[in-house]
Amino acid sequence: MKLFNTLTRKKEEFVPITPGEIKMYACGPTVYNYFHIGNARTFMTFDAMRRYFQYRGFKVIFVQNFTDIDDKIINRAMAENTCSCEISERYIREYFKDAESLGILKADVHPKVTENLNEIIAFIKTLEEKGLAYAVNGDVYYNVEAFEYYGKLSKQSLEDLQSGARIEINDKKKNPLDFVLWKAAKTGEPSWESPWGMGRPGWHIECSAMAKKYLGETIDIHGGGGDLVFPHHENEIAQSEGASGKSFANYWVHVGYLNIDNKKMSKSLNNFFTVRDIQEEYDLEVIRFFLLSAHYRNPVNFSRDLVDAAQNGLERLYNTKHNLKHFMDNAEIEELQEESEAWVKELAGFRNRYIEAMDDDFNTADGLAVVFDLVRFVNTNASATSSKAAIEEALALLMELTNVLGLLEKEESNSLEDEVEDLIQERQQARKDKNFARADEIRDKLKAMGIVLEDTPQGVKWKKI
Ligand code: AMP
Ligand code: ZN
Repeated sequence: MKLFNTLTRKKEEFVPITPGEIKMYACGPTVYNYFHIGNARTFMTFDAMRRYFQYRGFKVIFVQNFTDIDDKIINRAMAENTCSCEISERYIREYFKDAESLGILKADVHPKVTENLNEIIAFIKTLEEKGLAYAVNGDVYYNVEAFEYYGKLSKQSLEDLQSGARIEINDKKKNPLDFVLWKAAKTGEPSWESPWGMGRPGWHIECSAMAKKYLGETIDIHGGGGDLVFPHHENEIAQSEGASGKSFANYWVHVGYLNIDNKKMSKSLNNFFTVRDIQEEYDLEVIRFFLLSAHYRNPVNFSRDLVDAAQNGLERLYNTKHNLKHFMDNAEIEELQEESEAWVKELAGFRNRYIEAMDDDFNTADGLAVVFDLVRFVNTNASATSSKAAIEEALALLMELTNVLGLLEKEESNSLEDEVEDLIQERQQARKDKNFARADEIRDKLKAMGIVLEDTPQGVKWKKI
């Protein structure tokens, strides 16, 4: 299996530290609002990757944190005249609701900053002892000049970074790139006791501390959206590798950005959509399918036309699933017919092509293209007269290749089937009543829906063409 590693800017053969096991960490949301469609892309990508690794036989231990201490949370709490814990707990609950609707499974651990303060403080103390951090008036900063490899992920030297950095007026820092590990308490803000006085952690330190606690000093995969490469992940490397002297993550995976109608999503452009907003218009499985139709590293453009096209694509997959179910329930022959069903032997080839695509840096775009080839193939070969065994194999493969990605898992939406069955019943009744005009009308209506009827001694059979 190959994975693109931001650290080397190359697709590399994926080799886990422990054979058969993957330790994976993804940066999670700051919980001060519903999450937006761009966040959804990143969370969904890691969920789908995890599912695919499991499909390929790996045991995956997956950690995704909640940032529940942050300026944005504190500001919102002030605006609502409540505590930041109320805000973060609320949006953690809402995260799980939206994640579930998007088919995103719970991680093995969802650690929170507020539950890991001891670990965070201990981590900062280690950095201080190693000469990588310094305290000034209750703040603690990371000393980037003391870490030889600073810039290794974003591929920039300290000088380049310095000249590109926004110069912030902060007399406490030795170098403008030094970043805060611990912030001295301000009135009205939540704070905790520490060796440096009351205060709260900076943002970057939580991921280093939590990854170490739940996964160990060296992990297999660390990921997030592309915006996190610098400074967040660069800083995580400085903290973790500075403290342990070991490699922090062997593979760094970054998800491409999601834009709206070719523009960056932002509140000021009035093109900012939370998953909750989108849900009013679309089934979130359509969004999942839409997002998976692009390679995870490419930017994605979110537009109504493209999502509508995705809706049609997903419908085609569901139609095939329902047709196959219908054929299976009504099949007259149980056993595979060797001669007329030689096509069944070709099914495995689709699985191989799918795995080949997905093993190549998790190429869901090509993987889904194979699924559509399979659908075309099955629609051509499977019919109402196929054996149950043949249909069962085709259906099982379709489910296998789509369920891995969290698609086609819904059972209830066999509305096409119900509608067709109802019309057939009505047509039978019309014929009994000798109302042939109505019977023909129904046959034409079904024909327009792509359904052909076949009168057999066992009753009426139908198929979709
Ligand atoms: P945040 O809550 O802003 O820290 O973001 C949570 C995750 O979503 C991070 O991994 C971000 O990199 C990612 N993210 C934020 N905006 C976008 C976007 N427009 N497209 C893709 N990923 C994003
Ligand atoms: Zn992080």
